[in-house]
Amino acid sequence: MEAGSTSGFEPCIAAWLEEVRGRGLWRELRRVDSPQSTRIQAAGVSLLNFSSNDYLGLASHPVLKAAACEAVGTFGCGSGASRLVCGSLAPHWKLEEALAAFKGTEAALSFQSGYTAALGAISALVGPGDVIIVDRLVHASVVDAARLSRAKLRVYAHNDLEDLERILAWAASRPEARSSRVLVVTESVFSMDGDLAPLREIVELKDRFGAWLMVDEAHATGLFGERRSGCVEASGLSGRVEVQMATLGKALGASGGCICGSRRLVDLLINRARSFIFSTAPVPASAAAALAAVGIVQSREGGARAERMWGHVRALAGMIAPLPTAGTARLGLSAILPVVVGAEEATMAIAKRLLEAGFLVPGIRYPTVARGGARLRITVSADHEPRDIEALGLALREAFGRAA
Ligand SMILES: *Cc1c(COP(=O)(O)O)cnc(C)c1O
Repeated sequence: MEAGSTSGFEPCIAAWLEEVRGRGLWRELRRVDSPQSTRIQAAGVSLLNFSSNDYLGLASHPVLKAAACEAVGTFGCGSGASRLVCGSLAPHWKLEEALAAFKGTEAALSFQSGYTAALGAISALVGPGDVIIVDRLVHASVVDAARLSRAKLRVYAHNDLEDLERILAWAASRPEARSSRVLVVTESVFSMDGDLAPLREIVELKDRFGAWLMVDEAHATGLFGERRSGCVEASGLSGRVEVQMATLGKALGASGGCICGSRRLVDLLINRARSFIFSTAPVPASAAAALAAVGIVQSREGGARAERMWGHVRALAGMIAPLPTAGTARLGLSAILPVVVGAEEATMAIAKRLLEAGFLVPGIRYPTVARGGARLRITVSADHEPRDIEALGLALREAFGRAA
């Protein structure tokens, strides 16, 4: 091959990057020189942070930090091997016991991340000949997992029960239906729209058709329900959802993912989930930090933190009500409050204006959301002050006023 031809490695990448730039979809990393908090330092500038999923302010909580340090002292930094080889250290066992009790299930299994939890669980549960039915807005990890599983993927319109029912009926009518499995996957709180799924109705539907249900509680864990374990608990559905997925790196302030359900489900994953089997166990410090978080979330302090966060959510929802918000708050609000702009470049221009005013509010574009559905994704934390929320409300009005 000729040097400099467009099929050469560097020219090929350069052409691809040009295309990304040309479409207004260029992404780059921003270096942060401070811990996660409502105020972060980036490029020497202090920014008020409305972009994190650290909803309860636990990522830099002294109790989590102490738990992680203690785990390093006792168990060291690395975990040495995969869980099945010799990496199944005590902190993982303790964390999984606590997660099962928290989620109201028999058992739990932790993973390196939510992404790998979805990959491992879905491809362990369904395969060629099976059907996986997902909400149009499920997270990329679920879409990738569905593809990896090689099950037949069907997508229903967002939160549309009639469409889900139509697809379930189709799946049940296939000649091979008797011998194949059907798995429905939804998020309880949608990560980019911030709206809630009608879980009770979905459970009734999947039961009627004998399908299984997996609920991704990435943005609900820590925030909903009496124990604050998520929407499945809040809806009284703990015994009726086959697979509960959560992340440990959002409201729980640590890192990792988990699948909660029956003991048999967990045994199956230990034997079949390739992202669990073929990956070094999470470090002991992250398991210890997540365990501490599960304790705090269920404590009086967790309740007070959640209350503060919900207060901010309600205040901000009132302030952005005149702007085009995404999804519907029909079933309630979440900690994610998106403002939909539409065009990619206009969205990034508003995000930039906010940044210059000292507010970190991310613009979210394709492929994270649909083309033409670009938005600002605002998230709040228990550690914000009421005056932070007011300042953001004013800055948004200013930024949108000038954009209009
Ligand atoms: C963040 C997220 C994941 C992935 O979890 P990680 O721990 O970040 O890998 C999965 N599903 C949803 C809905 C998410 O928002």
